[in-house]
Amino acid sequence: MIDIRFLGGAREVGRSGILLDTGVEKFLFDYGIEVQDNTHPIQPDIRLDGIFISHAHMDHSGFIPDLYRRGYSGPVFMTPPTADLTSILLRDSLKVQKKRGDELHFMLNDIKKAERHIEFMEPGQRQEFSVSNAEFFHAGHIPGSVLTLLESKGKRILYTGDIKFIDTALMKGAFSEFKDIDVIISESTYSYGNHPDRRGLEDELKKIVQDTVYNNGIAVIPAFAVGRTQEMLIILSKLGFPVFVDGMGIRATEKILKHQKSVRDYKTLKGAFDRATKVKRDRMRKEVIQNPCVIITTAGMLNGGPIVYYLSHLWKRQDCSLTLTGFQVPGTAGRGLMDTGRYDNGEVDLRPQMKMNFLDFSAHTDRDHLLEFYKKVSPEKIILIHGEHTDDFSKDLNGMGFDTVAPGNGEKISV
Ligand SMILES: [Zn+2]
Ligand SMILES: [Zn+2]
Repeated sequence: MIDIRFLGGAREVGRSGILLDTGVEKFLFDYGIEVQDNTHPIQPDIRLDGIFISHAHMDHSGFIPDLYRRGYSGPVFMTPPTADLTSILLRDSLKVQKKRGDELHFMLNDIKKAERHIEFMEPGQRQEFSVSNAEFFHAGHIPGSVLTLLESKGKRILYTGDIKFIDTALMKGAFSEFKDIDVIISESTYSYGNHPDRRGLEDELKKIVQDTVYNNGIAVIPAFAVGRTQEMLIILSKLGFPVFVDGMGIRATEKILKHQKSVRDYKTLKGAFDRATKVKRDRMRKEVIQNPCVIITTAGMLNGGPIVYYLSHLWKRQDCSLTLTGFQVPGTAGRGLMDTGRYDNGEVDLRPQMKMNFLDFSAHTDRDHLLEFYKKVSPEKIILIHGEHTDDFSKDLNGMGFDTVAPGNGEKISV
């Protein structure tokens, strides 16, 4: 028997953490925080044989340093791009926690301690333990993201992490040719619906930007630093307008470009990034907003970062546009703006008169593609996590003949 215990991220999105106990070895799959309120998963015994990190997002990697603070000194396995990106995001996360006055669970020293224990694992490379082995597969979610396959005592357990099956401008879709899988532990962020066609979204985005710039306005595009910023660069660089990048997206792109194989089309991304002007400091921002242009800037959910500067200076301009390019988590300034038309991040409070758009550029798969994946792999059991509707989805899947469960945090399933 293998015991799978859900430490966090079950029936919710955020603070992912799964403990696998084979009876001989103990492994942890992901260990993140809930970004909005800095809550964390249940803290397991630190006698672990290895930690596998699916990708750099803080809901999957943001609490790793706490394990090292508590005395864990074993390996944490991740791909090289995930290591580079996690290192930026962890430092930024700690900065945000300090600024917000959160209770701090670890300090910079603990981040550095964790980094000294990173062991690189590339997709296709197998890691052997005494009774188990593990392998990563490309997940298509963001650069460096992987699915993890753990084989132990004749059982094959596949953890999806966050996953995207279709190709996007930035990423090649996930690997999905799995055979003889006993258990899939699956993300189910969008189990309740389907995303609009990607090409259609790209065309819509280009049209918004063209209309804005031809009208002498500025197209402001808040984007997540990792993944979305690079995707926007690729899509928008083809238009021929001046493109500016601002915020953490600059460093994230530099890191991603160190790993040519982490993106679908390295050359196009490199060209788009080289041509874009990198904006730093308010003096430069002041100059940038003098002329029609495109600005891709963090933060994606508008809570802080340079987007606050642009909103504060352009909010009255009806010739400018603001285009949200990703899911806005309830409680964020971006979500508030979407729902009420008022922007309030606790420091700045205004009602933008810019043209507002929301385009659902998700880095997660949707319901139909999840169903297709389960049918193709045909596992013995599906365990649903990383979603707010796992219970309903579980019922639907059971009705279709799958053996499916939606555990809660703290629950254990033996397979
Ligand atoms: Zn993610
Ligand atoms: Zn996630």
